[in-house]
Amino acid sequence: MSRPSDRHSGLERNGERRELELQSSLIKAINEASPDGILVVDDEGVVANHNRRFVEIWQIPDDCLTGRQRGSAVGASDDPILQSVMGKVKDPEAFLARVKTLYDNPDISDHCEIELLDGRTVERHSTVLRAEDGRYLARIWFFHDITGFKQAEAALVELSLHDSLTGVANRRYFFERAGHEFDRTRRHSTPLSIAELDIDYFKAINDRHGHAAGDEVLKSIGSISQRLLRKVDLFARIGGEEFAVLLPDTNLEGARYQAERLRQAIANYRTTAGRCSVTCTVSIGVATLKSSDASIEDCLLRADLAMYRAKEKGRNRVEVDV
Ligand code: GH3
Ligand code: MG
Ligand code: MG
Repeated sequence: MSRPSDRHSGLERNGERRELELQSSLIKAINEASPDGILVVDDEGVVANHNRRFVEIWQIPDDCLTGRQRGSAVGASDDPILQSVMGKVKDPEAFLARVKTLYDNPDISDHCEIELLDGRTVERHSTVLRAEDGRYLARIWFFHDITGFKQAEAALVELSLHDSLTGVANRRYFFERAGHEFDRTRRHSTPLSIAELDIDYFKAINDRHGHAAGDEVLKSIGSISQRLLRKVDLFARIGGEEFAVLLPDTNLEGARYQAERLRQAIANYRTTAGRCSVTCTVSIGVATLKSSDASIEDCLLRADLAMYRAKEKGRNRVEVDV
């Protein structure tokens, strides 16, 4: 017959065993169910734990995970897992430097986004695992593939800066870029010009051919102009049938030349809309930034006045601010 104290310690051991079982099952379940890749590296640089998602995210070859040799420096660049991961990131030097810093400074937790060569983005979170008495045990790394989120974010930014009908930059984007170019021009004393375009008798085009045909004309003007302009120029729809072109490093003469090319190309183009073939012309006003201009709006106002002069003088022409 067992004594009460034996029975008591047996029960305690049973309880402890159950507790351990529960803990290890819980860790297993968390590892498998986690949408995050998890890697745990102990104080001697040995992988103490990793899950399937970690291997998937970083496409780690099997042999990298089996070579669990102690003794190599923690975070050393010849670590096979580290090497495999570094081969996939856009900036391996910066990546390695940060990993070393984190291993050297256990008190630092980290949160960052890592861009991969294959176009994916991985969010990384890293923190330290300590024993109850505060001893350093390991560093835990969590990896989350946020590629879908980044793509959706980029699409939203794109939408917020572009006109949904023509696909060209919208008014907001134009003024944002114009503001930056204004600052750059002031810093480097380079010229900056603006051309403002307004479609001639556009209301009549809508009335004669229908609103949908009018929309097609707007789209044509966007694509013709973007084809003719340089990459650094910005063509934007700043109103219903009004467009503006930002021409960095371009003086008044250069801007007049570009405006004339646009005017001719638009006048010579035929837009097909349903069964009709529509032609249109534009009046363009051109102005260049002056040292007395307090902001880009001053220059745009002068381009606007020049554009109205082009209307008054018969339309389908370019007028420059002098
Ligand atoms: P002007 O030569 O003096 O510029 O004459 P206009 O007819 O072009 O000028 P007005 O300002 O009288 O007309 C502009 C027209 O542009 C009126 C409006 O219906 C049309 N419009 C504005 N936005 C859009 C659009 O998104 N699609 C279409 N189809 N028409 C538009
Ligand atoms: Mg107008
Ligand atoms: Mg008009």
